[in-house]
Amino acid sequence: AGIINFCANNYLGLSSHPEVIRAAVEALEKFGAGLSSVRFICGTQSIHKDLEEKIARFHQREDAILYASCFDANAGIFEALLTPEDAVLSDELNHASIIDGIRLCKANKYRYKHMDMQDLEAKLKEAQKHRLRLVATDGAFSMDGDIAPLREICQLAQKYDALVFIDECHATGFLGPNGRGTDELLGVMDKVTIINSTLGKALGGAAGGYTTGPKPLIDLLRQRSRPYLFSNSLPPAVVGCASKALDLLMESNAIAQSMAAKTQRFRSKMTAAGFTISGKDHPICPVMLGDARLASVMAEDMLNRGIYVIGFSYPVVPKGKARIRVQISAVHSDEDIDRCVEAFTEVGRKHGALP
Ligand code: PLP
Repeated sequence: AGIINFCANNYLGLSSHPEVIRAAVEALEKFGAGLSSVRFICGTQSIHKDLEEKIARFHQREDAILYASCFDANAGIFEALLTPEDAVLSDELNHASIIDGIRLCKANKYRYKHMDMQDLEAKLKEAQKHRLRLVATDGAFSMDGDIAPLREICQLAQKYDALVFIDECHATGFLGPNGRGTDELLGVMDKVTIINSTLGKALGGAAGGYTTGPKPLIDLLRQRSRPYLFSNSLPPAVVGCASKALDLLMESNAIAQSMAAKTQRFRSKMTAAGFTISGKDHPICPVMLGDARLASVMAEDMLNRGIYVIGFSYPVVPKGKARIRVQISAVHSDEDIDRCVEAFTEVGRKHGALP
């Protein structure tokens, strides 16, 4: 009782939004509990097609394809798209599902240093010998809350004739003036070719993932992508949640704006209190502590004060870079944010993280 959650990916608070819940109940009643089938046999209902169309419209892309998760979308794309004659260039800190997806494909693999454009350029030069080049990056990185330099990446991609793929799990719905994501925030919506994202975070938080991009690519994925071909269709209630979440976001950017204001409040108050917060302007606010034990005992003590946060240490983050990852949501009130900052200040002083 009275505990406030500061560690969910529920950035917009839509997982508990009454209209999202009602949409799920209505879809359940109208379309049933599940399809007992993959999409291409008898697992496609009108709501699946509608949601794919809505996702493409939201991202201003030609088409979209649904998966059971973004992990599946990442597992399915590289193998379907790239041959042994091609190359994929991946940021070293990309999400595990991108790494696994790349492992499954037979393309030539290049790993560039985290957000290091000199290294990416060197690798792109090296990769000129291949038929096709794909640069793959998280739009926003979940451990540090930092945002990929997409403008520079797209410029390099243009120079060296490469395609750009972004994973927008920690951006869709709230980054950019209309919440379209990192490509909107950085003004490169027309330069990023492929977007993978999740329905399991800001867009209602239930489950599901997708790829959106050029129609021929989506057609190819429907023919060749193994997690799409060989895994069950998304349940109607889940589709209903995501579809309503997108409706709400396309009607107004007020929810995303309110989350951005709260993020700003938290980041500036914590910095003024003496903490180091990694990243910039992102609702993932890693409170950098360094020591693994300090992160763990502080998180425990925060819970005693009614604030639910989790400490992250090696091997999830590099040695010596332990932290407590705070995630801001539109459902937090200003008072909730202030309560969280006060608790951090008390606990930080008690354990020597603050003077
Ligand atoms: N990509 C990134 C960057 C993520 O953070 C996650 C989830 O943690 C995923 C992909 C996987 O998303 P899903 O939970 O929809 O499988």
